[in-house]
Amino acid sequence: MSFSPGQTDSNGGSTAPRAPSNGPLADFERALGVPRDDTFAALGATFHTRLPGAPLPAPYVVGFSEQTAALLGLDREAPSDPAFAEYFCGNFTRERSPSTMSYASVYSGHQFGVWAGQLGDGRALMLGEIEHAGKRLEVQLKGAGRTPYSRMGDGRAVLRSSIREFLCSEAMHHLGIPTTRALTVIGSDQLVRREELETAAVVTRVSPSFVRFGHFEHFYSHDNVEALRALADHVIGRFYPHLREADDPYLGLLDEAVRSTAALMVEWQAVGFCHGVMNTDNMSILGLTIDYGPFGFIDGFDANHICNHSDSQGRYAYRMQPQIGYWNLFCLAQALLPLFGAHYEIADEKARGERCVADAQGVLERFKGHFAPALEARMRAKLGLEQTHEGDDAFANRLFEIMHSNRADFTLTFRHLSRVSKHDAQGDTSVRDLFLDRAAFDAWSLDYRARLALETRDDAARAVAMNRVNPKYVLRNHLAQTAIERAAQKDFSELERLAKVLARPFDEQPEHEAYAALPPDWASSLEVSCSS
Ligand code: AMP
Ligand code: MG
Repeated sequence: MSFSPGQTDSNGGSTAPRAPSNGPLADFERALGVPRDDTFAALGATFHTRLPGAPLPAPYVVGFSEQTAALLGLDREAPSDPAFAEYFCGNFTRERSPSTMSYASVYSGHQFGVWAGQLGDGRALMLGEIEHAGKRLEVQLKGAGRTPYSRMGDGRAVLRSSIREFLCSEAMHHLGIPTTRALTVIGSDQLVRREELETAAVVTRVSPSFVRFGHFEHFYSHDNVEALRALADHVIGRFYPHLREADDPYLGLLDEAVRSTAALMVEWQAVGFCHGVMNTDNMSILGLTIDYGPFGFIDGFDANHICNHSDSQGRYAYRMQPQIGYWNLFCLAQALLPLFGAHYEIADEKARGERCVADAQGVLERFKGHFAPALEARMRAKLGLEQTHEGDDAFANRLFEIMHSNRADFTLTFRHLSRVSKHDAQGDTSVRDLFLDRAAFDAWSLDYRARLALETRDDAARAVAMNRVNPKYVLRNHLAQTAIERAAQKDFSELERLAKVLARPFDEQPEHEAYAALPPDWASSLEVSCSS
């Protein structure tokens, strides 16, 4: 299969080549887009617009995840098929029939705390759903061209942000954090304008579902209760079928979102991950990390760290994330409200409404009960404490306080903590060296060692357990930046190497020590904004 450059169209690209006719890609194409009775596409035209991608000239493979490929039943050799890049930049979508055409979905949302009205997949196109090894996954191209929901945007994504999304979604998965996955990044020399001219890329995302809080808000804001119910039934049917038997399945759906969002916030806080744009349209109904933009892992710890240069108020600062997750769940509850209470036999509408609001509030209140104990348990594991003692909480908080005032490196502080010995006060100094104020650290570590003395586990066993929860390797901004700069020169080896290192974040990997080091001086000048 070779790419035959066709006529240039208004998008500046070429007309699409033929679809692959054999091999794993043909199987893939056959498996995709087959209408099933409970897929998102089957919800109908109120939910999406079908259209092909805008052609991308001379696409090439920039990055590929073998693990995500395996989820789809794709061979690790797939990218060497010349059709692969054509396929995953969307150039084959034009070959599809109207009924299996790729599509963009419509949603709305609150951005930075303000109702933003209609948004939607402005640059994402769903290829369809694939079933492999008993699991169904949706496959989506991000950056494949304009859609009816693009507003002022060009429908494209740049190489820089596509590489960041690719690297981080896979890295998060390997950290054990719920996330959408990434299969591949396809690049092109086509130029797109941001602050400066950059080249376009398409990242293929894979997820059980791409439904966001904003999808529900959309139909609520349009008073379309029928569509709202159909959407909720879709999510319940696919992911929480047991709820069908519940008194109030829709309240059950909210309950699941509260639980999974709280769990996700624990995960983010525990590794120092900042999402950067926690708008309700960037919140997954399944509690997955979704829409990687100006995200960042904290290097020197600052509880108020803002990773998004465009977030001048710090609404999405590190320490705000759990609260914002909770705020976003309120928006979701509001949107689901018309569905609640169908089982009540209360004739008076007002009384019924009040009862439903009280139910929703009751479910939302559970957030704290999910979040706080889980974070506490995680902190205990990060500190290597098996037992529970009075004051553990305050003790962990004191560590965060001195990390904050010393801007101690988040990842290395926890990773090196496993080297502290409960027997030997003069032992390893690698954590202590991360604190400018050595006296403050010494005071804390005195208490830490006293606390460790209450534990029955020996140092070695504790270190092994701690190293399973405190990663050594995270996607620091400067690591992504180096891979991006090389990739822009068409050298993809650094991207591949980095992805491999991040696939084993808890392993020592002595040959890759440099990837665990403190960031270089130039890293502090890196700015990441919404522009992508
Ligand atoms: P985000 O904050 O990146 O999640 O995007 C918010 C909204 O803007 C979503 O509806 C996106 O689809 C849309 N959007 C962002 N960038 C572009 C772009 N370059 N072209 C079209 N739509 C975009
Ligand atoms: Mg988004």
